[in-house]
Amino acid sequence: MPGLYDDQNIFAKILRGEIPNDTVLETEHTLAFNDIQPQAPVHVLVIPKGPYLNNDHFSAEATDAEIADFARSTAQVVAQLGLSPSNGGPGYRVISNAGSDGVQEVPHYHLHILGGRRLGRMLS
Ligand code: IMP
Repeated sequence: MPGLYDDQNIFAKILRGEIPNDTVLETEHTLAFNDIQPQAPVHVLVIPKGPYLNNDHFSAEATDAEIADFARSTAQVVAQLGLSPSNGGPGYRVISNAGSDGVQEVPHYHLHILGGRRLGRMLS
C-alpha cells in the first residue's frame, strides 16, 4: 500500500510547504485548511500529515496517536466554527471520497467538513 501513495499530490505539496494553504488548525499529526473551491459557506478539509491514501488505509496503517489526533482535530475544527449540534450549533456534514467510484480527486486521505447552510440530501 505505501507504494501506491503519490508524494507529488497537491496535499503532500501543501504539507511540505511547497504551496500555500489557508490553515484553520494544525497539530502534530493533522492539518485542517479551507477548500480552494468551497461547496458551502463552510468547507474545510482535514488531512493527516502521514502518507495515507484514504479512510481504510489510514484506519489500518496509522498509529493510535495519529488516529486520535485526527479525530480530535476534526472535533476541534467543528467546535471552532461553532457548528456542533451537541453545543447548540446548527450542524454540519463530514464526507470522505475514496478511489474511483468515490470520485476522489486528491489521493491523500481527507475529510470534507461542510456547513454554514442547510445541505441537500447526498446519498448518491
Ligand atoms: P476529493 O474530490 O474528495 O479528492 O476533494 C479534493 C478537494 O481538494 C476538492 O474539494 C478541491 O477543491 C480541493 N483542493 C484542491 N486543491 C486544493 C488546494 O490547493 N487548496 C485547498 N483545497 C484544494
